[in-house]
Amino acid sequence: MPWWHNGHLSIRVSVVTMPQLLSPSEARAEIRRLREMIAHNTDWLWEVDAQGRYTFSSEHCRTLLGYTPEQMLGRTPFDFMPPDEAARVGQVFLEIVAERRPFSGLVNRNLCADGSLVVLETSGIPLFDEHGEFRGYRGIDRDITQGIGLLGQRSVQLEALYAAAPVALGLIDRQAHVVIANRALAALLGDSLNRLVGRPIADFLPEDQLDVARCFVRLDAGETLADLELDWRGRHHQVGLQGVRDPAGQVIGLTLALTDVTEQYRMREQLAAANARLSEVAEKDYLTGLPNRRRFDEALTQEIARARRAGLPLSLLMLDVDLFKPFNDHYGHPAGDECLRRLAELFRQVVRPGDLVCRYGGEEFSVILPGTSAEEARRVAERLRERVEQAELEHAYAPLGRVTVSLGGACLPAGGEWPAAVLTDTADRALYAAKKGGRNRVCIAACTGDD
Ligand code: GH3
Ligand code: MG
Ligand code: MG
Repeated sequence: MPWWHNGHLSIRVSVVTMPQLLSPSEARAEIRRLREMIAHNTDWLWEVDAQGRYTFSSEHCRTLLGYTPEQMLGRTPFDFMPPDEAARVGQVFLEIVAERRPFSGLVNRNLCADGSLVVLETSGIPLFDEHGEFRGYRGIDRDITQGIGLLGQRSVQLEALYAAAPVALGLIDRQAHVVIANRALAALLGDSLNRLVGRPIADFLPEDQLDVARCFVRLDAGETLADLELDWRGRHHQVGLQGVRDPAGQVIGLTLALTDVTEQYRMREQLAAANARLSEVAEKDYLTGLPNRRRFDEALTQEIARARRAGLPLSLLMLDVDLFKPFNDHYGHPAGDECLRRLAELFRQVVRPGDLVCRYGGEEFSVILPGTSAEEARRVAERLRERVEQAELEHAYAPLGRVTVSLGGACLPAGGEWPAAVLTDTADRALYAAKKGGRNRVCIAACTGDD
């Protein structure tokens, strides 16, 4: 039965009808009796005008909200609610008033004078004057803070904290329904606060990325939940998850905190790309596009270690363009550059995949040959020398009238324990020998470790 059909209504009826039948003193006694009944009622009785301003308040507002009836007068119910709640209830109330209809069981959260929150259940009937004009509402409020359960009470406390936070925050119950959500979460999920509460979170966020049931299983097992990254509607969110427990330690809810990290994510990707470009630039020779000296040093150390682990030999060739100074002097520096580019391209074509040609510096190149014996290295070196010769790059000041190269090689035999410097020094010495021997030739030296 709706509340306005209970004793309250009969009180009203008696107030309106009885005075005509009573003597003035009886009427005064009757009014006193009614006032006392209202004052001692454990529900709070009130009246508001058509603008929703309190025009009457029973004494019980002192206990319920910590305000005197006088302090209530002229203010609206929404003045006593947190902003979010005022917006939510205001919306509901607007619809009720538009229809001038009675309502009951409207649950709302209110801020007491001391800052604490109280959950009220409000019911009311519309008031009309003798001409049928709408005058406002008369109703009662009941404190249901104790009756809404532990999670509900926690919600009330948390909501006060959550309401205006810029981070999207929400509380999920064990059935994976949204218990409370703040404005930021509602905005993020693209729904109003009203419609969000009570709905399964899976209606909004992809279950394969946010598996609430699994979260509860893990929380029950005493685990803490690590942050996860949610990739959703083209944006990235960092999701913080935290269990909410009752005093006995039982997990009764789960808080969600979503931070949009799309910009950080993009910056991280851009940074990684920039770093990749930077390390490429740092390890590449701009003229020929070959790995540079820096990359060569790294690669040689890595390949020596790999050869040792695999028990394989490793060879190194050092290559120097013959009489390149006169080439430059005669044809000019740009032509010299072009010659180096063409040689680099040619070297790339000659070596096998897995071999590494680098520009060592100036008109010198180096070739790392993993798993290659001294004899095989000699063959590779000969092939390189031959191909340069066959390319017939004109060089007016060279004995053959074309560009040639000299190569020195060194081999670290399988099981050899020498450091990189022994290999480079030996190859360098071999190159010097090739130059001394007349250029356009190959000289391979064995690593002895005597250096
Ligand atoms: P050798 O047969 O003994 O090696 O004689 P060389 O003339 O090649 O030797 P030298 O060391 O006297 O000269 C090397 C020349 O290579 C000098 C320099 O002008 C040229 N060179 C070095 N780096 C570059 C480059 O990046 N571009 C051009 N165009 N020339 C370069
Ligand atoms: Mg040189
Ligand atoms: Mg040279």
